[in-house]
Amino acid sequence: MANILVVGSMNMDIVTRVRCLPVPGETIQGLDTGFHAGGKGANQACAASRSGASVTMAGGLGSDAFGRQLYSQLEAEGIDTSAIAIKPETSGIALITTEASGENSIILSPGANFSYSAADLEVLDFSRYDVILLQNEIQGSVNEEVLTRAEEAGVPVCINPAPVHGFDPAQLSRIRLLIVNETEAEALSGLPVESFGEARSAGKQLMKEGIPQLIITLGSKGSLYMDADGTVIETPSYPVNAVDTTAAGDTFIGAFTAAYYGGMDLKASLHYASAAAALAVSAAGAQSSIPVKGQVEAFLG
Ligand code: ATP
Repeated sequence: MANILVVGSMNMDIVTRVRCLPVPGETIQGLDTGFHAGGKGANQACAASRSGASVTMAGGLGSDAFGRQLYSQLEAEGIDTSAIAIKPETSGIALITTEASGENSIILSPGANFSYSAADLEVLDFSRYDVILLQNEIQGSVNEEVLTRAEEAGVPVCINPAPVHGFDPAQLSRIRLLIVNETEAEALSGLPVESFGEARSAGKQLMKEGIPQLIITLGSKGSLYMDADGTVIETPSYPVNAVDTTAAGDTFIGAFTAAYYGGMDLKASLHYASAAAALAVSAAGAQSSIPVKGQVEAFLG
């Protein structure tokens, strides 16, 4: 079983459906509102835990009702919440308004995610973990400190630099595994990434930064794995009826790291992650659509 530490974001996503998005100054009536646990850190922690990993979540939550709810949902998943810091700021909130057309507007208020600081990492014993997962929804200075402590403890770090805006590319030379989608791969390599061929070129360009292993996910096309030893693996996605692609990437990352660092071989881990993500896009919602290991194994047959 993989022992995984996720240092990252936890949000409450408040999703209101509307007939038509309001213009500035306008008040409109919403159709309905749902509350969903989210944040890339929490989503990836949840995906890894449901794939059988032992997961510790570290990050900041507010001492408000949303914070308490997000905390207890992680506990209910069996995730170790002892390194979560409770902050005076509000919990991270994503205010999402969606039209039936698919058009949406999102306000992401990071709150306690941004007040989680490098000093809060003190409570963690880095040497306990097989891998550490990072994203880019908390302060860059915290990720920087995680990289330093992971280096000291000799623990590999997997980074998913999402959102890519504001990510410090200098961190690429300090990680073991980079997992990016097409947009992030384009932003970091400066090359177009729409096909497997283009992903290979972008991957080669990125490996020049000294990254030992990388995966570029290509939505419904699948994913490309490359490493410094010259291994290249193209894994096509599993064809499914895609209902909602939210959290496809987070599911892939959590499932892959749980499988790979849990001892599954590389190719099988890529297929496992691909199947988990295919199941996630087949159902509506973010964390609610992330499958458990038994569902992924049954899907793989
Ligand atoms: P998101 O931001 O929505 O979480 P992402 O952009 O980070 O997703 P993608 O590259 O879209 O990540 O998807 C990750 C993986 O999920 C893909 O490599 C693929 O295996 C799987 N996947 C995505 N979309 C589909 C789909 N329509 N059908 C089957 N599998 C899919």
